[in-house]
Amino acid sequence: MSRASKAVRDEIMYYCLESVKNGLNFNTQGNISVRIPEHEAIVITPSDVRYDAMAPEDMIVVGYDGAVLETGERDASWLPSTELPVHLAAYRRRPDAAAIVHTESTFVNVLGALGRTIDPILLNMVLYAKGPVPIMPFEFSTNAAFGERSAALMGDDVFAVVWANHGLLAVGTSLKLAFKVAVAVEENAEVLYHAQLAGTPNLLVYGDIDVPAGTRLP
Ligand SMILES: [Zn+2]
Repeated sequence: MSRASKAVRDEIMYYCLESVKNGLNFNTQGNISVRIPEHEAIVITPSDVRYDAMAPEDMIVVGYDGAVLETGERDASWLPSTELPVHLAAYRRRPDAAAIVHTESTFVNVLGALGRTIDPILLNMVLYAKGPVPIMPFEFSTNAAFGERSAALMGDDVFAVVWANHGLLAVGTSLKLAFKVAVAVEENAEVLYHAQLAGTPNLLVYGDIDVPAGTRLP
């Protein structure tokens, strides 16, 4: 019996396809993982497989130490995502992170390539990312040292970080919330890009937003 439940595998698969539908990824780029703390492990998408050619049984289970515990069922030669060390570093830094979504969406990358912090100007972005999303200067992304720097720059209070000239890493207390962060940051980046061309947009600060107790979020 797999350490990763059918429900977790199905949820990852669902958000992989949502990511394609939302235009957040191209080709075999991007990856998603979910923490399974009861096994001190994560479930992560395989490397070099398109989301729309992937199946729930292809997900790979990896221990916190990076060792592959379970390969995919259809093809045991498939490896975990190349950014596995970066996911593991983010989980180490952020005990509140239950899931990670890495996207390579267009306006995140426009602002990232310009080195411009993604300041919240839209409600969803400030509610879910909880603050300005920092830009990490370009470097190659598939090693643990990069992962440590990425996690340190994201810090403990914000739920995303941009890797310049590459894409976004979003974390969440659930996969649903990590995906909301990825969508909200991309939408915010697009509006911010246009708003800054037109003038000086009003920025939102998470701590200043008065959300009455018990309010349902969008
Ligand atoms: Zn990537």
